[in-house]
Amino acid sequence: NAPSDLTMVGAYVENRLPPSLGVPEIAFLGRSNVGKSSLLNRLVSKAGGDTARVGKTPGATASVNLYALLGPKRKGGNSGLGAPDAKPILGFADLPGFGYAKLSKETKEGIEETAELYLGKRRELALGILLVDSRRVPNADDRAVLAACFDLGLPIIIVATKSDKLKANEVELAMSTIRDGLGLPDGQPLRISAVTGEGIRDLWGIILDACEM
Ligand code: GDP
Repeated sequence: NAPSDLTMVGAYVENRLPPSLGVPEIAFLGRSNVGKSSLLNRLVSKAGGDTARVGKTPGATASVNLYALLGPKRKGGNSGLGAPDAKPILGFADLPGFGYAKLSKETKEGIEETAELYLGKRRELALGILLVDSRRVPNADDRAVLAACFDLGLPIIIVATKSDKLKANEVELAMSTIRDGLGLPDGQPLRISAVTGEGIRDLWGIILDACEM
C-alpha cells in the first residue's frame, strides 16, 4: 500500500538523540543542495506527487530532523490534538547537510558531531543513503562520510540525484566519475530523480530490504 503520511517528529537538541519511534530508520546524508528534501518528498508522495510535506530547515543547522512515515489512518479518527491516529512504520532522518562553504569552524564541528552521534549510536538505524549530485565529482567530504559508514558497519546505498539533468550521452561518464571517485562497484550509484521518479521504485526496494519489511 502507498505510504499515507509523513510527520516531523523531533529535532536533535544538544547532544541528545531524538526519541525512538520503535521502527527502523533510514538516514539521508549528503552535501547541502544535493536534493535530500526533494528525494524524501518524492519517496513518500503518492502517484502523481500530490503533496510535499517535508519542509526545509533554512540554513545550516546541526540538527537531525526525524520524520515518521505513518501507516493508514485508523477508523475512529483523532487523538484529540488534531494528529491522525496512525502508527509510525518507518523513520527518515535528515542529517545536517555538509559542505557549506562559509561556516565557522564551530558550526562545522557541531554538524560533524551530530552526524557521528546519530550514525554511531542510533540503534534503529537500518540504512544510510548517501546522495551525490549526478553532475558533480565526489569530493573529500563525500568520501569521508562513506568511509565513516563503512567503519561503523552501516549498510549504505549511494544515489546520484537529479539524473533528469543529464543528457542521455552524458550518463555513462557521469556515473563512472562518481563510481571512481567513491570506489564503488559496477552497477552503482543508483540514478534517481525527484522530478521524473527515475530510481524511486528501486530505492524503495532497497529500503524495504534493509528494514526487512
Ligand atoms: P537539499 O538541500 O539537499 O535538501 O536539496 P533540495 O531538495 O532542496 O534541492 C536543491 C535544489 O535542487 C532545489 O532547487 C531542487 O528543486 C533541485 N532538485 C532537487 N532534486 C532534483 C531533481 O531530481 N531534479 C532536478 N532537476 N532538480 C532537483
